[in-house]
Amino acid sequence: MQRSTKLVHNCALIDAATRSSSPAIHRGSTFDQNPRHGSSPYSYSRVSNPTRGLLEQTLCELEEGIQGFAFASGMAAIAAVFQLFEPGDHVLLPHDLYGGTFQLAESLAAQGKLAITYVDTSSLEDVRQHIRPQTRALYVETPSNPCLRIADIKALAALGRELNLITIADNTFMSPYLQRPLNLGFDIVIHSATKFLGGHSDVLAGAVIAKREPLAARLQEIQIMYGGILSPDDSWMVLRGLKTLGLRMDREQENARKLAEFLSRRPEVSTVYYPGLSSHPGHGLHLAQADGPGAVLSIELTPAIAVADFVAHLQLAIFAVSLGGVETIVSHPATMSHGRVPPDVRRRMGVTDQLLRISTGIEAIEDLLADFDRALSAAGGRH
Ligand SMILES: *Cc1c(COP(=O)(O)O)cnc(C)c1O
Repeated sequence: MQRSTKLVHNCALIDAATRSSSPAIHRGSTFDQNPRHGSSPYSYSRVSNPTRGLLEQTLCELEEGIQGFAFASGMAAIAAVFQLFEPGDHVLLPHDLYGGTFQLAESLAAQGKLAITYVDTSSLEDVRQHIRPQTRALYVETPSNPCLRIADIKALAALGRELNLITIADNTFMSPYLQRPLNLGFDIVIHSATKFLGGHSDVLAGAVIAKREPLAARLQEIQIMYGGILSPDDSWMVLRGLKTLGLRMDREQENARKLAEFLSRRPEVSTVYYPGLSSHPGHGLHLAQADGPGAVLSIELTPAIAVADFVAHLQLAIFAVSLGGVETIVSHPATMSHGRVPPDVRRRMGVTDQLLRISTGIEAIEDLLADFDRALSAAGGRH
């Protein structure tokens, strides 16, 4: 079955009890356990809930893992994964990392709960060099946020197996429609389902999918103990969003490709970071491990172009944090997602003040190109 079909025809398509074409939202917090009334697999909704369970099973099937877990946000999912570590453990993180994950890791390190080293995960050599006897895990984002660097998932998975590391991939930028790190040998996939999975900028959610035991059992304990679970209503929202993930991603990716080509030819833009461009250093590797370049790109405006001016002239694209919605979103990592990252670290990540991240929506490409054309020309003093 093709992936776009699977997104519609999954375990959540037909409600088992009623044959409804949309699953019921079970808001009950507790479940009758009187043996006189028969048995239920459910006891209390923090432990497990039928609606959340459907989402967890669906995501698990899409990522091809053994168990899925839905959380109240991407950060709740990431925080749950970080609970796998113990004081003394050392973890390798990419030096261009989602700002919230960076903050969490720094806070754990400052409290002495974790030792961390930032590495260039696109260089196997750099990763190898920073391994210590205490290294417990390797964490990647590929493409990375916001500079779209590509890590070799298969090679890093092999290294992880060799050195007995837990390999973790934040797959938010790709979604399982385009990339399945567990199939390439990773142990854990994380999602901010707020982005492409939900897809409409109207729900916050996170997910973790595990490929092996004992990680799955441990993650389940953590989910129950810390309790950062996704509500039944929001689980339903993500299930609803998932049905159109393929359709949205195809269109958003096509728009990203055309916008990236258009922006590459503009004098106001010095660099375009997009794995779909043959000039991108990770282009070949990315296309070998994923089914497409995705719908996120970043651009570096030339020093002559004031970011604020450019943004003020956008009429269609919204200027906001987040990505993966049906609307085009332009964001300024240096003051938004990476605003709390110290300036010297931001520079190491490649997050300059002239860098803008773009997540293309499903708008007609003509309208998008016209919007960027107008804003670039106006900011460049050509209107
Ligand atoms: C947004 C995002 C997160 C955090 O997810 P929330 O749902 O906002 O908590 C983590 N990783 C990446 C790559 C993201 O884009």
